[in-house]
Amino acid sequence: MSVFDRLTGQGAVVSSLEAAVRGEGMTHAWLFTGPPGSGRSIAARAFAAALLCPDGGCGECASCHQADATTHPNLVVVQPAGLSISVDEARRVVRTAALAATGGRTHVVVVEDADRLTEQAANAWLKAIEEPEPGCVFLLCAPSPEDLPPTVRSRCRLVTLRLPTADDVADLLRRSGVPSDLAAWAAAAAQGHVGRARALATDEEARAQREQALRIPARLATVGEALHAAADLVGLAEGEADRRTKEVAAAETEALSDAVGKGRGTAGLYSDLAKKQRSRETRARRDSLDRALVDLAAWYRDVLTVQLGARTPLVNADQSDALRIAADDAAPESTMRRIEAVLACREAIAANVTPLLAVERLTLALRAG
Ligand SMILES: [Zn+2]
Repeated sequence: MSVFDRLTGQGAVVSSLEAAVRGEGMTHAWLFTGPPGSGRSIAARAFAAALLCPDGGCGECASCHQADATTHPNLVVVQPAGLSISVDEARRVVRTAALAATGGRTHVVVVEDADRLTEQAANAWLKAIEEPEPGCVFLLCAPSPEDLPPTVRSRCRLVTLRLPTADDVADLLRRSGVPSDLAAWAAAAAQGHVGRARALATDEEARAQREQALRIPARLATVGEALHAAADLVGLAEGEADRRTKEVAAAETEALSDAVGKGRGTAGLYSDLAKKQRSRETRARRDSLDRALVDLAAWYRDVLTVQLGARTPLVNADQSDALRIAADDAAPESTMRRIEAVLACREAIAANVTPLLAVERLTLALRAG
């Protein structure tokens, strides 16, 4: 067993990381890149565990278990709470890392979504990366090297992950105990996205949300129906996101209250926390809605595949009857316009357009065809 077992379809990357753990080509700053779902943060965390493990990442010792649970004293994982990582947060982590690495102990900092660093925060990291404490290792994750300022990326060794195939992902799910058929279905539906496949295989709510998205094409008979479908999709995405964030937020507020009470001078702390929580909630809602839109885009791509008689495997192979009906019902040009409308909606939401407004515009465009 090895901490790298959790990666799938990344043979070359795993060999080079294993070599680095043995000291070959080791350096103190790494940048893990790859498309969403390729497992950037999974790879960075596995590498962190391997660097901290006395056995090079056995996956079984106390150190590996602590690294897995993010409770290892010499591991910090920075997850952007909101839409960007603040400079305060970056400075705090850099300080902690410098302290922890005294005496030459290995201390690993993983920064997930480093593309969400503000410019100032990126500069705080840059300083740490330029003049590292001995023993400090920084693992940054971002979709592509261009997502980071050139000054930062030029100091990092690049690790490029590829999107695993559906077979790779299905294998991985099976290895973690998911029944074979469910694993194959989830891997195909998730289109190579490892985290999404795992959610679809194990989480009833993720499956319900996907079904809702795929029902949209059948709910466009009237303008009223199209607007209802939009409201339902946004509502479900927000509900799913809120359930995930509210629990964490309540625990955070309670922890703060235990630590500082409610006395004079604590109001600022509570309002800072509330601000951070609101920002995280907004991001979770947007991410959740985006996943639904990815599912919807895949549906229309499947329709186009059927219309063109292409041999590409279908993402929604389990719904081939419905796809065939939809394919007979429209011209390929119209399907392409619909795919473009879904992509435009994703872009609008990423650019801060009110989600309901963007999705209403989408369902009306889908209805027009
Ligand atoms: Zn170990």
